[in-house]
Amino acid sequence: MMTKVLVAGLALVLAAAQAVGKSQQTDYQAVVDAAYAQFKDVDEGANADYIPILATVPSDMFGVVIVTRQGEVFSAGEMDYEFSIQSVSKPFTASLVMAQQGPAAVRTKIGVEPTGLPFNSKMALELYSARSVNPLVNAGAIAAVSLVEADSEANRWEQIHGNLSAYAGRELSVLEEVYTSEYEESWSNRAIANLLYNYGRLYSDPEETLRVYTRQCSTGINTLDLGMMGATLANQGVNPVTGKRVLDAAHVPELLAIMATAGFYDESGEWMYSAGLPAKTGVGGGIVAVVPGRFAIATFSPPLNEAGNSIRGMRAIRHIAGELGVGLYGANPSE
Ligand code: GLU
Repeated sequence: MMTKVLVAGLALVLAAAQAVGKSQQTDYQAVVDAAYAQFKDVDEGANADYIPILATVPSDMFGVVIVTRQGEVFSAGEMDYEFSIQSVSKPFTASLVMAQQGPAAVRTKIGVEPTGLPFNSKMALELYSARSVNPLVNAGAIAAVSLVEADSEANRWEQIHGNLSAYAGRELSVLEEVYTSEYEESWSNRAIANLLYNYGRLYSDPEETLRVYTRQCSTGINTLDLGMMGATLANQGVNPVTGKRVLDAAHVPELLAIMATAGFYDESGEWMYSAGLPAKTGVGGGIVAVVPGRFAIATFSPPLNEAGNSIRGMRAIRHIAGELGVGLYGANPSE
C-alpha cells in the first residue's frame, strides 16, 4: 500500500515537472516565433559593403534562436546558411587569451574600456593610453590575436580556429571567398595593426597578425552555431552539447562584462539601456546575447544600421529579452 502511494506520488511529481518543462519550452518557442514574425519584414539598413562580398549576401535572410545552457534549441527562420562570424568572433578569442594567460593579461595588455567610437577607430588609438582599448573593437581584437601563445602563424590560427570550433561544438570552416575579399581590402585594419605595433601594443608581427585576424573574421557559422557559442558562455564556459570546457567558469563574468560595455561599439550604451544583456554583433549580420546562467539568444540578418549592427537582430533580441523579462537590471520594455 505504502509503495503504491509512493509510486503514485512520484508519478505526480514527474508529471508536474514535465508540465513545467513543457510550458517553459512552449514559452520560449512562442516568443522566438513571435519575434521572427514581427521583424522579418523590416526593410531598413543595408549589408556591409566595405568588405565587397558581404554586399552579395541575400538581405532578406533572418534567423532567431534561443539555446539554453542545457542545449535545448528554440528556433525560427534561417538556421543553415553559413555567414561570416566577423566581430562576433572577438569575445571568443579574448576568451582564449584569458584561458592561456588569465584575465589580467586582457586588462593590462589590451584594455577593458569602451571607446564610444566606431569599431575601426584610429582616433581611439591616439586618445586612449591603452591604445588597443578593449578586445571587442578592431584594435583590441587584433591585439588579442597577437597575444595568443603560438610558435608560428599556422599554430596561431590552429588555436583560434580550435577555440571557435569548441565554442560552437563542431569543426568550423573558413569562407575562403570572404577571406580573400576582406584581406584584399584590409587597408584600415593594416593601419591599425601597424599603429599598435608602433606603440608596442601588438605582440606579434603585424602582417601575420592581420592575416590570422582576417581568417578569424571569415570563419563561417550558422545561426544555430552562434546560439551554441553563446550558450557555452551562459553555461559558464562549458559547451552544453559536447560537455567540453572552453573557459574557466571564474573568467566568464569578466568576458561578459566586456560584452556588456563594448559589444555594440558606439551603440553599447543604447544597447544596455534598451536590452540590458551582454552581447556581441558582427558586420556579417550575426548577434549573440547571453542571459548569464540561463541561455543565449542569437540572430542572423545582414542589413546593418550606421553603427554596423544588424537591425532585425537587435530588434528581435530586445523584444525577446523584454518578453521574457531577462534584462540584467530588471525587466526591460520590448522595443
Ligand atoms: N572583420 C571586420 C573588420 O575587421 C569585423 C568588423 C565587424 O564585424 O564589426 O572590419
